[in-house]
Amino acid sequence: MAHINENFLKLTAGYLFPEIARRVEAFAKSHPELASRIVRCGIGDVTEPLPSAIIAALHRGVDQMAQRETFHGYGPPTGHAFVRAAIAEGDFQSRGLDIADDEIFLSDGSKPDASAVLEILGAVTIAVTDPVYPVYVDTNVMAGNTGAALEGGGYAGIHYLTTGPENGFTAEPPTQPVDVAYLCSPNNPTGTVATREQLQRWVAWARDCEAIILFDAAYESFIRDEALPRSIYEISGARECAMEFRSFSKSGGFTGLRCGYTVVPKSLHGRTRGGKKIALHGLWSRRWSTCSNGVSYPVQCAAAALYQEDGRAQCRALVDGYLANARSLRQSCARLGLRCFGGENAPYVWVACPPGVSSWEAFDTLLSRVQLVVTPGAGFGRAGEGYFRVSAFNSRANVEEAGRRLAALTQAAVS
Ligand SMILES: *Cc1c(COP(=O)(O)O)cnc(C)c1O
Repeated sequence: MAHINENFLKLTAGYLFPEIARRVEAFAKSHPELASRIVRCGIGDVTEPLPSAIIAALHRGVDQMAQRETFHGYGPPTGHAFVRAAIAEGDFQSRGLDIADDEIFLSDGSKPDASAVLEILGAVTIAVTDPVYPVYVDTNVMAGNTGAALEGGGYAGIHYLTTGPENGFTAEPPTQPVDVAYLCSPNNPTGTVATREQLQRWVAWARDCEAIILFDAAYESFIRDEALPRSIYEISGARECAMEFRSFSKSGGFTGLRCGYTVVPKSLHGRTRGGKKIALHGLWSRRWSTCSNGVSYPVQCAAAALYQEDGRAQCRALVDGYLANARSLRQSCARLGLRCFGGENAPYVWVACPPGVSSWEAFDTLLSRVQLVVTPGAGFGRAGEGYFRVSAFNSRANVEEAGRRLAALTQAAVS
């Protein structure tokens, strides 16, 4: 008899996006004349095609695979040296940050990395923010690091750090020690960004209780304010307490191509039950060489092109376009009298529903009145209730259309 991992049975149904799809489909069915008017500002997926410099690099990689002399079979499991060097130089060394080439681990994306990291950690207690990117929570449920699902949302055994308007939707460190804390900045879903002072408090806390910070910087390229930290390693002492996840999904439009990387400093340690200090770098290397053969060669060529002049400029323009969308969507919501957060150094605007209106009520109203699809905040945790997320990942034309429709609404109509 093969026994299953019963932790999977604790997972509450993947409710949010299937439920959105169900409601949108039901609306389209009952209002066929409006179905083609639906504008989706709900998803966290990019919409614009890959920049030409990336496509050219991808083609070059494919052509090399066609010739005996330039063909590539298995590569190093953690990425070709030319890509790791380009990343270490482009994202860290050129900014004065002390990260070596061999502390960069290339992968097929941050979601798989955020999940795989639990393989090199023992049973841990975790802290997450509420609202939260659900991957951090669900992977810990699967790994057995939590208790059962709680009535009204969340899981027993997780330390939830509630964020709200009072703390600008960025969490302060917990008052009790936990083993691992997940931070996402710029944040999905709230679009807010942690300041340098806040991250300094986090690093001080983690060093004090020997916790590990898992820093998700998937939206780093959306930061335009020079005063805001783009990497946890801008904070002195972070090399001893933090791993950082980076993804080319949102910065380069790679959601369908699949590539990202994780930084594991050699000075980051965990302990055995017996108290012996062990470097995570060696464990992560071993995990990769045992479990994976790395990222496909043409995709690595495309990733390296992100660090060359053309690729860099084109991706910056791509992100600039999404940032302009975010600004415009935030203005449209603010003009309705709704309180808005984020959307300035991030692709998400986090909007407070009018008093007394729930996330799903606001969702239904926007769908039925103006055929606009947003993401109900309640889907990201208890503290997301009373908010909705508007995604800037859309074409300019759709964002302008969304703006016109919102302008036709009044705040009263959202209630
Ligand atoms: C989109 C996103 C990622 C990127 O995941 P990939 O697997 O690299 O596509 C990571 N973290 C957050 C919070 C995200 O929203």
